[in-house]
Amino acid sequence: AFNDMRAPVALAIEVAGAAGRQRSSGLPDDAFAHDGQITKRAIRAVSLSSLAPRHGEHLWDIGGGSGSVSIEWALAGGTATTIEPKAERAEIIRMNAAQFGVTEAVKVVEGSAPEALNDLAHADAVFIGGGASDALLEKLWSVLSPGTRLVANAVTLESESLIAGWHGRCGGSLMRIETAEVQPLGQKRGWVSARPVTQWSVTR
Ligand code: SAH
Repeated sequence: AFNDMRAPVALAIEVAGAAGRQRSSGLPDDAFAHDGQITKRAIRAVSLSSLAPRHGEHLWDIGGGSGSVSIEWALAGGTATTIEPKAERAEIIRMNAAQFGVTEAVKVVEGSAPEALNDLAHADAVFIGGGASDALLEKLWSVLSPGTRLVANAVTLESESLIAGWHGRCGGSLMRIETAEVQPLGQKRGWVSARPVTQWSVTR
């Protein structure tokens, strides 16, 4: 469409009108229904960047929560299977996917990893937003094809220590993401820090 002969302004308006939504990942948290368990906007934007979606690729999103990661992956042109053990959250994911018009692209599996990973379609990338364990990483390491991108986010000391060990043995990169946002402090303003997130990115 971009080598189309119509006036650039008309084309730009048509494109803006047709999309109506930002093209980058990292949509506002409020764009998704959630119960507080959601990968927050800035962390989600970095996580999608690390996952590096390509058109037509398939993602396993372990610990679906609100489904925000799978939905942003789908908006980037891929398909996703999201695994979430809590029935209420699985329902929220289905609602959010419907809201974004990606129900065909986002499949919800109600279950827990690693058990729920059996019989899934081939993955090009895997995101771990919850449920990280040695058993899960061992299973992934044995079933993923070489070249699969794996991104694991850790917030607890236990999950951080787990992925630090795997990083030591398997390589990849470890990044610590610390964010802070200004909030009212009496009549003035002050920084409020979020819990740091440690992110392990590795290619199998
Ligand atoms: N990335 C999500 C937020 C994840 S919160 C989003 O953006 O909305 C972590 C989620 O992992 C929770 O919903 C929790 O129920 C789920 N979880 C915990 N243990 C799990 C396991 N073993 N397998 C799959 N999901 C798990």
